[in-house]
Amino acid sequence: MPNERIPDMGSTITIEKPVFNLLLSRLKEEGYLPIGPRVKNETLVYEEIESIDDLPQGYSTEQKPGNFRLVHEKHSRFFDIIPGAQSWKQFLFPSQTELFAMQKNGKSWEISSQPMETPKYAFIGVRACELAAIQIQDGIFMREDFTDPHYRARRIHAFVISVNCTQPAGTCFCTSMGTGPRVKEEFDVNLTELDDVFVLTIGSEVARRLLAGIPFDDASGYILSNVERKLEHAEHQMTRKLESSDLPNLIIDHLDHPYWLEIGKRCLSCTNCTQVCPTCFCWDTQDEMSLDGKTTRRNRLWDSCFNPGYSHQAGGNTRPTIYSRYRQWLSHKLGTWKQQFGTLGCVGCGRCITWCPAEIDITEEIAALRNEVNR
Ligand code: SF4
Ligand code: SF4
Ligand code: SF4
Repeated sequence: MPNERIPDMGSTITIEKPVFNLLLSRLKEEGYLPIGPRVKNETLVYEEIESIDDLPQGYSTEQKPGNFRLVHEKHSRFFDIIPGAQSWKQFLFPSQTELFAMQKNGKSWEISSQPMETPKYAFIGVRACELAAIQIQDGIFMREDFTDPHYRARRIHAFVISVNCTQPAGTCFCTSMGTGPRVKEEFDVNLTELDDVFVLTIGSEVARRLLAGIPFDDASGYILSNVERKLEHAEHQMTRKLESSDLPNLIIDHLDHPYWLEIGKRCLSCTNCTQVCPTCFCWDTQDEMSLDGKTTRRNRLWDSCFNPGYSHQAGGNTRPTIYSRYRQWLSHKLGTWKQQFGTLGCVGCGRCITWCPAEIDITEEIAALRNEVNR
């Protein structure tokens, strides 16, 4: 018989799948806005969810370079999909944020900013690589010496229900980057989906409180070994690899190698890889003036090192060619990022491979550069 105790911190329990709706209701009662994966316009998006019925039950995804396809397999599972182009970045660091506005008052200007938005999100279905990406962005936007108030206001209240991946996509390579497919830390609740139950590990006191009175069973040894078997299977299924033992030096020591010119011939400088990347954080500010000249707004917008204007400085453009912009992106992500932040800037989510219209594959480019260098 399911009991109604409060689960212990760090314990692993099982709930019947419909019971997940009780947790969603609790989150809403506590003022959270639950966001999760949904099928919309024949693709996957992260949007508000009302109940478990909004999740992509029965779907999985096929992903390969330059290709994403939703497949409706009509199975009963809710979390077999691997995320699409969107990531949680759009909620913590939105693509456009108003920093302040000004109104003309006679001959002077008055600042008339909107109050800062402080939504209380519950993220449902955060993958291990995505959690690693959030931790990277935390390190950028919530540094000890400088904290971005907009990011912080969104991040500190976020409730995270992470999900262990049991079906990696063809472009995933988190095992190479040490980030997945199993979630290890930094969650409120971590979920593994079996055919008939959700297996939940409790990671915070907030989660304990929200789960109080919700019917659950302690996870049996059989359930735990079933979870372990599925995760080991997922790790073995992941065939895509990025050899990182010689990074960042492979890149930093060969910035003048002619191979960069070869990649530059294929890259379209479209910016897709930077827009979908959950760790990319570059932004620009733009002023937007009303036609009557009485109001102006300063907005922060996502930018990309592939935009020619990004490198435009007084006296000219420091990266006028496509190859130099691709080299900047890769040599930051897998090179100088390490000196700057202590880790590589890639979590192995594979989005930049799936969503590159030229089918440029970061794992293959690194392998090809290594081959060229060692020839
Ligand atoms: S560089 Fe590519 S694989 Fe790595 S985190 Fe960014 S989008 Fe994901
Ligand atoms: S890269 Fe790993 S953690 Fe991320 S979605 Fe794929 S399997 Fe899951
Ligand atoms: S690598 Fe691909 S996604 Fe990135 S800018 Fe070039 S063509 Fe676009």
